[in-house]
Amino acid sequence: MQLQRELELFWETKNALFIQKVITDKFKQIVRAIPNWKCDVVILDRTHFDQKYFINVLIQDENTKTYLFEEIKQIEFDLEQIYKVIYVRPSKEIMYQHQKERRENIRPLEKYPEKYLSDIYDEHDNNIEAVYPNHVKIENNKPLCYFCSQYQNHKCVDSCDFKYYMEFFDSLNI
Ligand SMILES: [Zn+2]
Repeated sequence: MQLQRELELFWETKNALFIQKVITDKFKQIVRAIPNWKCDVVILDRTHFDQKYFINVLIQDENTKTYLFEEIKQIEFDLEQIYKVIYVRPSKEIMYQHQKERRENIRPLEKYPEKYLSDIYDEHDNNIEAVYPNHVKIENNKPLCYFCSQYQNHKCVDSCDFKYYMEFFDSLNI
């Protein structure tokens, strides 16, 4: 999602309603635009349904929550249109590690406290069945080297478990 500036502003002001409203409006825009895109496949790395996790963690005021959930409901988007929902689930340790790696070029956006990450993770994990009843899950805790991530696993010297990921993607029948 292209909301870098808004996210930085959010982390500076901690104005959760502002950022959730901006994100809802962005999803509305995307969902309206999709039918006009000239492509065969659309991959969304999250949808407005995922916003519920963030709202539950970031917003305490019930009226504000109700307002945002109503905004989300107004987005005309049917999960039936989606071919596959893939829940990519790292361990918490891997999630923290990725966050630390990103901190090398530190921006306000990247200063998530671990408690926040952990709460979002739990919220996601506890509600995935309700939000996306037909999802398939992959645990992405097995590291892939540069070559394997580029489908050049014949050059791999780290003995990555490339097969694990290939079997998963084959099982999707895409
Ligand atoms: Zn490798």
